[in-house]
Amino acid sequence: MGSIVQFIAADPDGLLPPAAQVKAALEILSRRFPIATDICVTEHDTVVLIDCGEDLMTVRCPSCGADLLEDRRWQQMMDSAWEAGMRHRSFDLPCCGVNHALEDLAYDWPMGFGRFSLDVWDPDVTWFLPDGRGDATQARAILKELGTTLGVEMQAIWRHL
Ligand SMILES: [Zn+2]
Repeated sequence: MGSIVQFIAADPDGLLPPAAQVKAALEILSRRFPIATDICVTEHDTVVLIDCGEDLMTVRCPSCGADLLEDRRWQQMMDSAWEAGMRHRSFDLPCCGVNHALEDLAYDWPMGFGRFSLDVWDPDVTWFLPDGRGDATQARAILKELGTTLGVEMQAIWRHL
């Protein structure tokens, strides 16, 4: 089974860094993932969901722990944010009324939001698997190197294909 690792900025509104830095980051990824089938940059006009696909099990409220996937509550908030161009992403949550942004909810497996991603197709490594099989040391080292090169804090989103 194939997979993709998408590297995104920790700040969802963060724009793609300058071309020279992106080029350097792609070179790092080529060196770190020598057998990947493709390594590319994806840029979006607005903030988009960088999703983990079928491995999404829960979307929890950080305040009360309620699972917002139940009754499609998370999907409704996503729809309404999307209709507003993803500029207003904070809601008084239906579970406990506390206001949180979509990107601050607890996604399991992890998902993220961003204006761009650096995508590594079929990296054939398990370093970024969020289910305990990952190699946290490798993952941290790569995220640190990317962050330093791009000048922004980065995170990784894993998806099975
Ligand atoms: Zn809640």
